[in-house]
Amino acid sequence: MSKYGFTKIERDIKKAIPNPNSPTPQLITDLPSTPLSQFTLNYVKEKLPIKVLNHSIRVYLYSIAVIKDQFPEWELDSEIIFITSLLHDIGTTDDNMIATKMSFEFFGGIISRDLILEQTKNQDYADAVSEAIIRHQDLGESGYITTLGLILQISTILDNVGLNIELIHKDTLDVINKKYNREGWLNCFAGAIDNENKLKPWGHTSSLGVPDFKNDVLNNKVKYEKL
Ligand code: ZN
Repeated sequence: MSKYGFTKIERDIKKAIPNPNSPTPQLITDLPSTPLSQFTLNYVKEKLPIKVLNHSIRVYLYSIAVIKDQFPEWELDSEIIFITSLLHDIGTTDDNMIATKMSFEFFGGIISRDLILEQTKNQDYADAVSEAIIRHQDLGESGYITTLGLILQISTILDNVGLNIELIHKDTLDVINKKYNREGWLNCFAGAIDNENKLKPWGHTSSLGVPDFKNDVLNNKVKYEKL
């Protein structure tokens, strides 16, 4: 089960990685090409705006780089990291925002579970993707998470807020951000946060602070873009 991430690990990133290794440059930006990877990439290309698609691919590439340096012993499958990264923000599309009153990442987790279960008939695979998506904004210091959930948290918060920067090499960030352009990303994501908090003020995004989380995003020091 560890190839799907069902191994418990501390949710607190500092406890999960108490002594970070020095990051090494990871300059290969290949994406998985398995049939399920292709299917999911085509699915999200139709539904996600390009800024969100590029963010999702950056999240995958950061995850691979961080795992190589910080968790070389993990057996997590790169295909499931790719699928989960591609689908993690599927709940933010216009159609999905008006389709539900549920928090975007919870609804995104449900849609993704259905989609992946239909494609794979593999419940453990679909559960793993769904659990990680549902918990990708569930940051905190107590308890545990799957390894897939932890790496998704690390990489999304790295791209959005600039935290966990010590876990990745500058040259790695450089090559990924040039290939999968982040032009306009922070404003786009800040807008998504506002939209979520406006349409679903009861939602989970509010637990990250209103408007603190949006301000953290706009104050991201990892800038490859002009605001
Ligand atoms: Zn995201």
